[in-house]
Amino acid sequence: MAKLEAIVAAHPINRKPYHCIRFARLSSHRKPLYTVTGDERELGALSALKAAFELHGGHCFHCRKWLAPQKLSQAANRDHIHPKSDGGEDYLHNLVITCGTCNRSKAAKNIVDFQVERGKDYLKALDAHIARCIEAMTD
Ligand SMILES: [Zn+2]
Repeated sequence: MAKLEAIVAAHPINRKPYHCIRFARLSSHRKPLYTVTGDERELGALSALKAAFELHGGHCFHCRKWLAPQKLSQAANRDHIHPKSDGGEDYLHNLVITCGTCNRSKAAKNIVDFQVERGKDYLKALDAHIARCIEAMTD
């Protein structure tokens, strides 16, 4: 279990701005809705990550550069880990904050093709996160 915790800790879900995002409920269309610390609205994943970043800032997922709270722009944006062009969906676990430089150089590449080690760590963390969610549901 300690190993699983360490793997999950590598996932940005435990850091700004993600830790400001809380699951609220499933919508009538069974899409997850979230609330963000400092924002009263219930939001879908894309909007929740946008609101959380604009209020709280975050690190670029790829190069770890700190990005202060700001409006999304070419200099700071959201990126799909699994590219949208390859079927990646707007789930919170598939969305990360990236600086403009990394976003442009990653483009539509898959995370493992862009940064092999970071990509593998991410996928391990995601598997561990999902395993933990399944455990929690079957308890
Ligand atoms: Zn970057």
